Amino acid sequence: MWLNINHTALPNYLKTFNYRCARDVRPVLTKFNNNRLAAEVACPFCYTEPETLNHIFVDCIFSKIVWAFFANLFSRISSFKLNFDAETLIQLRIPRQLYLFDTQLTLLITLTHHLLWKTRNQIVYENKTTTPRKVIQGIQRSIKYRHHLEKQKAVPVHVDALQTLINAANELKQPRN
Ligand SMILES: [Zn+2]
Repeated sequence: MWLNINHTALPNYLKTFNYRCARDVRPVLTKFNNNRLAAEVACPFCYTEPETLNHIFVDCIFSKIVWAFFANLFSRISSFKLNFDAETLIQLRIPRQLYLFDTQLTLLITLTHHLLWKTRNQIVYENKTTTPRKVIQGIQRSIKYRHHLEKQKAVPVHVDALQTLINAANELKQPRN
């Protein structure tokens, strides 16, 4: 059913991550604090809304800035409009007309998703502060790293798809913060 969760361009840890996202089995604070007030389990990015999977990954203003960069990047390689809803971003259900960009979309969504999650954990468990800009730079580094690893493979399949993303990202302006 969820083909993209197990896409061949993804390393195993990201396949596992996608599976957990789609099944909603990761710990977000609200799950552990059902009896408490929402204010006590505020989203670690914006501190204004309760932390739910949909909020931190789709609706939060912090994540929206990151996804906006992603949307700009995608519009550089395609003329299609991507719908940024939870179905697409969490369940990885990529609309049929976008199958041509399957590899790029799956990698971009997964890397972005995973970095948002890592960032969220650094704030919650290590008291670190961060900005959407830093997350975006992290996504760009991850794409380059995946490209590097793909080139080392005996039978590289996704080198061109990744190179397209790297080129498109280099042409984009970064947000100020
Ligand atoms: Zn938030």
